[in-house]
Amino acid sequence: MGIKGSSTVQLYFQDAKIPVENVLGEIGKGHKIAFNILNIGRLKLCAAALGGAKMAFNTSVEYAKTREQFKQPIANFGAIKHKIAEMAIRIFATESALYRTAKWIDDLEKQLIAEDKPFNEALLGAAEEYAIECAILKVYGSELLDFVVDEGVQIHGGNGFSAEYNISRAYRDSRINRIYEGTNEINRLLTLDMTLKRAMQGRLNLMGPAMEVQKELMSIPDFGSDDETPFASEQKLIGNFKKAILMVSGAAVQKLMMQIESEQEVLMNIADMAIEAFHAESTLLRVMKIAQEKGAEKSSLHIDLMRTYLYDAADKINKSGKDAINAFAEGDEQRMILMGLKRFTKADAFNSKEARRRIADNVLNSGKYNL
Ligand SMILES: Cc1cc2nc3c(=O)[nH]c(=O)nc-3n(C[C@H](O)[C@H](O)[C@H](O)COP(=O)(O)OP(=O)(O)OC[C@H]3O[C@@H](n4cnc5c(N)ncnc54)[C@H](O)[C@@H]3O)c2cc1C
Repeated sequence: MGIKGSSTVQLYFQDAKIPVENVLGEIGKGHKIAFNILNIGRLKLCAAALGGAKMAFNTSVEYAKTREQFKQPIANFGAIKHKIAEMAIRIFATESALYRTAKWIDDLEKQLIAEDKPFNEALLGAAEEYAIECAILKVYGSELLDFVVDEGVQIHGGNGFSAEYNISRAYRDSRINRIYEGTNEINRLLTLDMTLKRAMQGRLNLMGPAMEVQKELMSIPDFGSDDETPFASEQKLIGNFKKAILMVSGAAVQKLMMQIESEQEVLMNIADMAIEAFHAESTLLRVMKIAQEKGAEKSSLHIDLMRTYLYDAADKINKSGKDAINAFAEGDEQRMILMGLKRFTKADAFNSKEARRRIADNVLNSGKYNL
């Protein structure tokens, strides 16, 4: 055991002997409890990061409205509006994915309790079922907070660097979130690792949908759809994102086989595709619900937000997919998968600048996060 550091105290335990009466759970099975607690911890970390992001956002909005340069508030400038809108969009996306996962865990926990499982087993069992989503939330939530505090410092200009302003402390405090509860690198690796393990255990059907996508690749692409139902094109785009992930991960597993574990860059690319797709889908589902409740006109701001998110997600998924494909495929195979990726990440043209301005103006009018 040792103590290190000046302002922070760190305790190290090495070969420490634990009295028998102090043993918690079963010897040799402690890691199971620890891992399952980590799932809940990751979800909670996302919630905490989200709260911090909203606070940093509100501080930055207030500053942008009061700080004047060139005889006007800096909030009037398009460059600042872009930042404010992007922060709000990512906060909304994180919240959507978090609520969605928390509801899944709650529902399963209740079901397990109804099946006579003790509370701790029901809670940890429910969280284990959604361990992949918890890892995704941890990564995205911590990176959301880093993004918001970084842009917050930028909006504060030189004052953002000064300890007198709260945003400077938020910038420092945010940084730990990408490190604990499993670093974001480890959580990205886990996202795919857990998915592949579940597929091998038969808990998840990956092969069937992956074969379907391969078949679709050989067929003539469809050029649009006649489906006029609201959000049909957005739903189709989300479906295509999933196809892109199945196609790239399926091809990577086939090509790299057991070697895949040592190709961490490819695993990171695929995890990034999944993280984007999950948040895009969560945002779309939430906005569809809002539009159903309030009507399309009264939810136009949410629709702007969702379309901006999806439009950007398509390019991000394309870039991650391209990097992965180029790392493991060559020749005709490479060309075919790249063509498939292009097909599955093609979003309609969209004026995201105007959409962001509308979002920023709305937030600036209310003076705080209001979505
Ligand atoms: C303020 C604070 C509070 C903490 N609270 C707790 C707590 O309550 N409970 C607890 O258990 N721990 C806690 N920790 C510890 C924390 O979980 C670890 O710091 C964290 O897991 C990273 O481990 P490490 O510091 O040993 O870094 P390392 O494991 O040395 O990682 C260094 C870098 O290498 C990367 N890396 C490591 N292994 C791999 C790999 N296999 N593949 C790819 N990249 C890899 C990491 O992602 C990271 O970027 C806390 C840490 C801090 C700073």
